[in-house]
Amino acid sequence: MRVIADIHKMQSQAGRWLRQGIRVVLVPTMGCLHAGHLSLIQRARREAGRKGVVVVSIYVNPTQFGPKEDFDRYPRDLKADLALCRKAGVSTVFAPTDQAMYPGGSKERFDTYVVAAHLSQIMEGHSRPTHFQGVTTVVAKLFNLVRPVVAVFGAKDWQQAVILKRMVADLNFPVQMIISPIVREPDGLALSSRNRYLSPGQRGQATVLWRSLQHARKRVRHGGVGAARLRSEVGQLVHEQPDARLDYVEFFDGETLVPVKTVHRGTHMALAAFVGRTRLIDNGRL
Ligand code: AMP
Repeated sequence: MRVIADIHKMQSQAGRWLRQGIRVVLVPTMGCLHAGHLSLIQRARREAGRKGVVVVSIYVNPTQFGPKEDFDRYPRDLKADLALCRKAGVSTVFAPTDQAMYPGGSKERFDTYVVAAHLSQIMEGHSRPTHFQGVTTVVAKLFNLVRPVVAVFGAKDWQQAVILKRMVADLNFPVQMIISPIVREPDGLALSSRNRYLSPGQRGQATVLWRSLQHARKRVRHGGVGAARLRSEVGQLVHEQPDARLDYVEFFDGETLVPVKTVHRGTHMALAAFVGRTRLIDNGRL
C-alpha cells in the first residue's frame, strides 16, 4: 500500500493510471475509520476489480466545519487508519496536509468554492450554513487530484450524497457515484467517528435516532400521516431522553429532498439531534 501526502505526486500518479487505462475507485473519508468506512472500501474493491485500484483519502477538511464546531477535537488516528486500510486491501491512501489543500490558509489565499445553491441551504445546511460548500469544494478538489471513474459515499450522510450527485451531474464530472448502505451497531445506532465522544449514559440515549426512524416506519405502515404530527411525535421521543435535544427532523422525497406534507411508505426521513454536546444524524426510507 502506498501513502501519498503530496498533492503533486497524487496528481501525477492519477495521470499515469489514466494513461494506463487503470480503473480508479475513490473513497473519501475524514479518517478515524470504522466498519462503516470499511463497507465503503469493500464496495470500492468490488468496483475496481482485480486490475483496478482503490484510493482512500483521509483528510479532515477544515472548510466543512463551522467556527463553533469540533474541527480541533475531531478524532485523528492516521496510524490505526493505515493499518485498517492495509488489511482491507486498499492500494493507495491519499492523506494531504491543510497547507497543500488550502495554501496560505483556507480563509486567506483560497477563493474559489463549489456551491450547490439550493440543496445546501436546507436541513443540515440550515443548521450548518457553510458545511456543504466545504464538502462540495473538497470533493471537487479530490476528484481533480485522484481522477476516479467511480466514487463511493455512505447513505449515512444522505443529503451530502444527494448534493454530491447533483454536483457531478451539474458540472459534468466523469465520475460514477455509488451510495453504500448505512452500517449500524446491533442496537441500531449508525456508526460514526463522533460516537466516541459519547459517555456510556449518552451512548444508551443515542439510540433514540434509530428508534425515531423505526417509530415513523411503524406509523406509516398502513397509510399517510401528516408531517407536522409525525414531527411532534419524534420530538416527544427525543425529549424523553434527558441529555438529548432534537435539532431537526424532516420528511422529503429521497431523490430531490423536496419536503412532503403527508408522510407515506417510501418517504425519506432525516434527523439530527444533540446528545450532550455531540451532534448525531441519521436517516432512512420509511
Ligand atoms: P466521514 O469520515 O464521516 O466523513 O465519512 C466518510 C464516508 O463514510 C462518507 O461517505 C460517509 O457517509 C460514510 N459513512 C460514515 N459512517 C457510515 C456508516 N455508519 N455507514 C455507511 N457509511 C458511512
